Amino acid sequence: MTIKAAVVGGGIGGVAAALALHRRGVGVDVFEQATELAEVGAGVSLAPNGLLMLEHLGVGQSVARMGAHHVHTELVHADGRPVAHAPDEFARAGRTVGIHRADLLSLLADELPHGIVHTGHRAIAFSQTESDATVTFANGATVTADVVIGADGIHSVLQGFVVAPTEPVFSGVVACRGLVAALEGYPADTMRMWVGNDKHFLVFPVRAGELLNYVGFVPSPTKVRESWSAPGDPAALAAHFAGWDPLVGRIIEAISGPGGSGFEWGMYDRAPLSRWSVGRLTLLGDAAHPMLPHLGQGVNQALEDGVALAMLLGALDGPAQVRDALGSYESLRRERTAQVQIGSRRNGAGYDSSGSQLTDRSWIYSYDARAEALELLASGRDAR
Ligand SMILES: Cc1cc2nc3c(=O)[nH]c(=O)nc-3n(C[C@H](O)[C@H](O)[C@H](O)COP(=O)(O)OP(=O)(O)OC[C@H]3O[C@@H](n4cnc5c(N)ncnc54)[C@H](O)[C@@H]3O)c2cc1C
Repeated sequence: MTIKAAVVGGGIGGVAAALALHRRGVGVDVFEQATELAEVGAGVSLAPNGLLMLEHLGVGQSVARMGAHHVHTELVHADGRPVAHAPDEFARAGRTVGIHRADLLSLLADELPHGIVHTGHRAIAFSQTESDATVTFANGATVTADVVIGADGIHSVLQGFVVAPTEPVFSGVVACRGLVAALEGYPADTMRMWVGNDKHFLVFPVRAGELLNYVGFVPSPTKVRESWSAPGDPAALAAHFAGWDPLVGRIIEAISGPGGSGFEWGMYDRAPLSRWSVGRLTLLGDAAHPMLPHLGQGVNQALEDGVALAMLLGALDGPAQVRDALGSYESLRRERTAQVQIGSRRNGAGYDSSGSQLTDRSWIYSYDARAEALELLASGRDAR
């Protein structure tokens, strides 16, 4: 008997989860509050663990075509000199791909059957019975499904139906990020992080090398709302990185040139949640585990969530077993993502102290969430 799922939130996490569910034969609809699916004008770095999930979803080739391959991953001091002790921690990245966020979202959404995504639907309430779950939207619509998946980001409304509401934690850092046109002197196959006292500057190519994604992480004495993008101020950014490698200065100058853009984001996360699911409701992506971007894993972990959840729900005989599947999902995902949340905080501090004590990433990159879900399913069958 087919399971029917409702995914709330049409960001990269929600859309990838919907595709994973669809691929596994689960009936799925996505409800997004915005009037169209859209992403911010910035890049995202896909690590080996996330790339593997995209291959499982059948979009590996599109990602390879639309992304930019980072053969080299470099950690350098503010003046451009390599950080001597870093290569083991930083260059162990293996294969990473930089991709424009809008490109990733649209290549995933393009794989969904027509009519699955419902825009203009802002979830405001949730209720459930023994046999189904219902979401109510601000436009007056309601939807009832066997399982509801809250993929509605760091401000998740659905999270409030799983745990007591908490405030996101401000990290004291603002990210000034955006895109510039590819620049002579910046290698098209390289991700580079400049680290100095209290600041770091990350650059990697996206869109087959046509554009460079940059992020300047700077301390901020005042709270800036997260997920709220104010137009960036290139002059202020230039002042923050004055005296750094001249290449950093040229990238900041290019923000005001053709194809350049810049926004500011307050960096927030939350402590790991004590639970992700209640009855027929569960959480995924930033709604479940908002993390600082210092391990570049927010999207990658959301992709793992979606694939793992789809494997578990897709294996059910019918809707009566949804609660058990959500219990398995949580047992598979919650501890791992908590470790990544904690590691991201630690890594940010490592960058800000010139690249010392960086988190080892091999345990993050060498993981196959689909294989882990299959193993869990097999062990459950053995136990019966
Ligand atoms: C500066 C910066 C750099 C980053 N770099 C990386 C990186 O290199 N690699 C990486 O893996 N991650 C990175 N991340 C993290 C990554 O951006 C997030 O983890 C990821 O985008 C979360 O995806 P999501 O779909 O869970 O949430 P979101 O992208 O927040 O999507 C949530 C969606 O739900 C919708 N929504 C919200 N509320 C409702 C509602 N009530 N009803 C209906 N819809 C709703 C929203 O409109 C949105 O479309 C970075 C983050 C930042 C800030």
